[in-house]
Amino acid sequence: MNNDYALDGLPGPVIYDEIVPARAPWMFDIKRGQTLRIVDMEGNQAVDFLMYNSHDDSERYSAQDTIAAQSNIFLREGTQLLSNDGRPMLTITATTVAYHDTIGGACSCESNTLRYGYHTKTQHACVDNFLEAHTRAGRNKRDMVSNINFFMNVPVEADGALGIVDGISAPGLHVDLRAEMDVTVVISNCPQINNPCNGFNPTPVRMIVSE
Ligand SMILES: [Zn+2]
Repeated sequence: MNNDYALDGLPGPVIYDEIVPARAPWMFDIKRGQTLRIVDMEGNQAVDFLMYNSHDDSERYSAQDTIAAQSNIFLREGTQLLSNDGRPMLTITATTVAYHDTIGGACSCESNTLRYGYHTKTQHACVDNFLEAHTRAGRNKRDMVSNINFFMNVPVEADGALGIVDGISAPGLHVDLRAEMDVTVVISNCPQINNPCNGFNPTPVRMIVSE
């Protein structure tokens, strides 16, 4: 049997290992101390990511607090992902992609229509995925906050301009996230086909949880 290199370097035994199909949502409770590894199986697949305190979901990811605390807009190895109470929720303990985005937001049928034309109105979008997962957990539109986009490249130019451009990820690259509290993670495996964030071809990602 071949070695499964996607499991290399995990801190402990694997307790969960599943593939999220292209365009699908996913939700999972990560316990404090566990590590979530997200593997970009085929490369340049944006993973839109939200998280909530498992015991009180009024505490949730805050892009603004995270950016302010580290005085940088990019999420890199060592970044602590903070809540709206300023507490660490997850730490990026390793990443084989240089940096990840948290300012580009999540795609929606509304934003698609504005950016790409009315013919895109019926295309599946990340906001639909988030809401589908939220509905299963008793959350709704009020619980949508600014998200993380793992494996998505949103460079910011000297004049402040930003763009969603060709990715810097590649097949098999991954990010490791250690839980600093019990967190409920919600992702949308981004279905966008109108810009390069998924290489115009949404693909599966692998979610691995280790003790
Ligand atoms: Zn999307």
